[in-house]
Amino acid sequence: MMMVGCVNAFFVLVALLLAYVVHNHPSVREYWQLDNRPPVAVNCSFMQLHRNVTLPTLPDDLEALPWRCGLQEVTTTTTTTTTTTESSPNRLRVFVFTQPDGTWCWSNAGVIVYDDEILHIVDTLTDEHLTNHFIEAIQKQIVVVSTKKKRRMTPQWIFLTHGDIDHVYGLAAMRRSFVGFRGILAHQSTLDTMAKNPPPKKLAQSVMRARLVWSFFSDKNDSMSLHPWIKRLLSYGTPHVLQGYAVRFLGNLRAMQFFSPFDFDNTADVPTKDVIAFDERERHVSLSGGGGGGGNDAIMKIVHVSGTHSYGDVFLHLPSANLVFAGDLLFIGVSPIMWTGPARKFKAALHMLLATNATTFVPGHGPVCGRRGVELSLAYWDFVEAGVRQCVADGVSESRACASRLFDRLPSPWNAWLGAERVFINVDVEMNGPVVDVARKFALIGAQGEHGLLDT
Ligand SMILES: [Zn+2]
Repeated sequence: MMMVGCVNAFFVLVALLLAYVVHNHPSVREYWQLDNRPPVAVNCSFMQLHRNVTLPTLPDDLEALPWRCGLQEVTTTTTTTTTTTESSPNRLRVFVFTQPDGTWCWSNAGVIVYDDEILHIVDTLTDEHLTNHFIEAIQKQIVVVSTKKKRRMTPQWIFLTHGDIDHVYGLAAMRRSFVGFRGILAHQSTLDTMAKNPPPKKLAQSVMRARLVWSFFSDKNDSMSLHPWIKRLLSYGTPHVLQGYAVRFLGNLRAMQFFSPFDFDNTADVPTKDVIAFDERERHVSLSGGGGGGGNDAIMKIVHVSGTHSYGDVFLHLPSANLVFAGDLLFIGVSPIMWTGPARKFKAALHMLLATNATTFVPGHGPVCGRRGVELSLAYWDFVEAGVRQCVADGVSESRACASRLFDRLPSPWNAWLGAERVFINVDVEMNGPVVDVARKFALIGAQGEHGLLDT
């Protein structure tokens, strides 16, 4: 008997020791997300070639959730912006799948869970490899939790914030995994954009060809930089016109490297025939699965804003959660980008985000933020709009010259954010109008890749 008592006491002591370690060891604290400080470097194991990334330091008052790889619950980690109401605890839960560092195609997606039973998806990521990890995370972290009610979780809607490839290429994988979906809901302009997107396998071939050619010119120690002899060749003695063509050609090749970490080859065509398109400016959707019932806590407002990042942009407002899925109206930690514009309309859309009185915003790229994140974005577009106006007043009418001027004067925090050179695209759209075809889009991505080609 005495022996049994000693063994029990031993196990109690071991358990107490383990509990102490779990609550106090720094690495364990971070693993269990007890420490909310934004990390400076992350290792995203599911992101293949993009595993180790270094993140920019974000302003202290950004109220961002930790910028981690994978699925996090927004509603329990931000206690000041909890979605629950006293009368209906836990009816609405929101999860966000984030992919640092948020640069080209490293986009966010989301999950809305109503009453632990009904599930909705917001956006579908860039390739099926990533989407499958998103689906796996949903099944591990959400579906398991929901079984406490012993009811089957019913998938309902896939909502699309806009039609760019990094938000829609995962649709076929979603469709396959969640059989019985009610539908894919998107604005008509999003559907139009999706129809113009290249099929994933065609994009895979272009990226492969560009990688092959680029490998002849790139520095082996830094795959995004040119060999020193190419730089010298282009910098000295080369006729200006020839230099321009060469830099543009190399810039396009370099830009295609941004897409090389993705598995477009194993990504199926997007099922556009399944998309239910709407044309009105604002649509309300019942999250409870019924025909509009479930009270205010089950309503989502989808608001279309044109003339911004793209023609199809909508934001998804969950009033009872004080939360907005902003899509690519918001980039945090990485430079915003405008394909449609102008900045005046972009700013009007951001004012609409603030007018919702929401306190939590999920950007299309970057960490979840508070209202400060939207205000910062407004200030960025103020800078672009005023800068272009000044260029015109000073007779600087060529967009590259104007963008170069703005790039050199880019203030904090955007000068430290990733992809700061996107100001070349933003200025071009502000001066020359919207990008309406894919060819110009890739040319502009190439042009911004071209900046600094000779001095990297
Ligand atoms: Zn995006």
